[in-house]
Amino acid sequence: MASLTADSDLSAFLDACRAAVGAAYVLTAAEDMQRFEWDFWRQYHGRAAAVLRPGSTAEVAELVVVAARHGVKIVPQGGNTGLVNGGIPDDSGAQVVLSLERMNKVRAVDPSGEHMIVEAGCLLDAVQQAAAEAGRFFPLAMGSSGSCRIGGNLSTNAGGINVLRYGMARDLVLGLEVVLADGRILDLLRPLRKDNTGYDLKQLFIGAEGTLGIITAAALRLAAIPRERVTAWLSVVRPADAITLFKRCRDAFGELISAFEMLCSRGVEIAVEELEHVQRPVAEAQPWHVLVEISWMFEDGLRARVETVLADLLEAGLCLDGTIAETEAQRANMWRIREGQSESASKRGYIIRSDITVPIAEIPRLLADIDGWGDAIPANVTVLPFGHVGDGNLHVNFLVPEAKAKDYYDPLLGRLYDTVDRLRGSISAEHGVGRAKRTAVDARKPAAARDLSRRIKRALDPENRLNPGIVIDPSEL
Ligand code: FAD
Repeated sequence: MASLTADSDLSAFLDACRAAVGAAYVLTAAEDMQRFEWDFWRQYHGRAAAVLRPGSTAEVAELVVVAARHGVKIVPQGGNTGLVNGGIPDDSGAQVVLSLERMNKVRAVDPSGEHMIVEAGCLLDAVQQAAAEAGRFFPLAMGSSGSCRIGGNLSTNAGGINVLRYGMARDLVLGLEVVLADGRILDLLRPLRKDNTGYDLKQLFIGAEGTLGIITAAALRLAAIPRERVTAWLSVVRPADAITLFKRCRDAFGELISAFEMLCSRGVEIAVEELEHVQRPVAEAQPWHVLVEISWMFEDGLRARVETVLADLLEAGLCLDGTIAETEAQRANMWRIREGQSESASKRGYIIRSDITVPIAEIPRLLADIDGWGDAIPANVTVLPFGHVGDGNLHVNFLVPEAKAKDYYDPLLGRLYDTVDRLRGSISAEHGVGRAKRTAVDARKPAAARDLSRRIKRALDPENRLNPGIVIDPSEL
């Protein structure tokens, strides 16, 4: 098998790529490739031999065949907003990025069948918009919606703010179209809700982070658009009160709750100070905050019910303060604070991110444990927990001085992960594994799960050509 060992090999490979997709869509100039080589937050960087930009599934398949012939490894890339160093090349300069961003067509929207078929490079925002224009709701939503692409969302099995009611990305997929490592097109694009004809192969590619195949299109499940939506901001003294509040809201509103997010006061204050046009939703700086969103299919009546429940919670002393968004601008302000947690903190230094999950009842214990770390948290580190508390998923981020990021990274995350292990949680709730968490995740897998994962990778990509080094250590294949 050939490999890119000399300039002449690279040049022959690039010529073949140009013949497949057109010269304009094979990027090799350093300034053109830059944005594909840095991740969203510019925390990770790699070097690409080239960036390939196919415009159709057939072109993706042809490029995969060309790459195989020349022994070239491929890194599929969507919006490049992934947070685990999984969507950019390594620093060898030998891998190529295959960007799906030109494949951004909505192929069909069927409001009666409640599904849509979209290409992998559609921005998540655009998918939501196309569904809305057809009178339906695509519920996957997150702070990166304007930049991430549906192929990336499915490859990471993304979560986001509506998981509580609608599930993870995996739960929204009816069918997939995938280019396999040998260049064959696997057409599983039928929008069927029921199809018990053996193994559900599409599930293999969801959450596989580009290591088993390249997703080129998806059939997505749609929901009805809720007509009345109530968004409330509540302040509580302790995380345990937020958990009690969650239970009380569940008792009152059941599946109507779409989001139940928690933020610490430090994070809220930083957001208010660092982000433009953002105001604290309640007057006082309180210790902890909850952002809850509830919606239903009727035109009105929900708000009055929410007000009654909140009045009871305030009277019972479970909340210190609370407000319901009166206008879309007030609602947007609340969500800007929540979704701007990383953006605002990153203006003050380097963020060591985490994406952990524990059983919901253990969240107070997790946070109390971190509070008790004492000197293990240096004085120049700020702990900023926030996240989707209704799913047990917290981002416990550490804001550290840029110069100390390398020194603090392993000790802080190592200690956090030990705590998560003790509480029987997971160290990657929704962001995935990438290179950043490969070793830590692998060390926590049962031996049988590790073995099965390697067998699946070997079966689907025997030459380890698709996103090598991600999820599984290549030396173990
Ligand atoms: P990329 O970053 O381009 O790729 C991610 C992985 O998928 C890589 O391994 C890549 O190789 C692979 N891949 C990409 N496209 C394909 C394809 N077509 N076929 C095969 N493999 C492919 N994530 C959440 O889950 N919930 C959140 O609430 C959330 N909030 C965020 C907020 C911000 C501000 C930011 C920057 C990120 C956030 N993320 C969140 C993380 C990120 O947006 C998600 O992981 C998203 O799903 C990645 O999509 P992408 O198109 O950017 O993928």
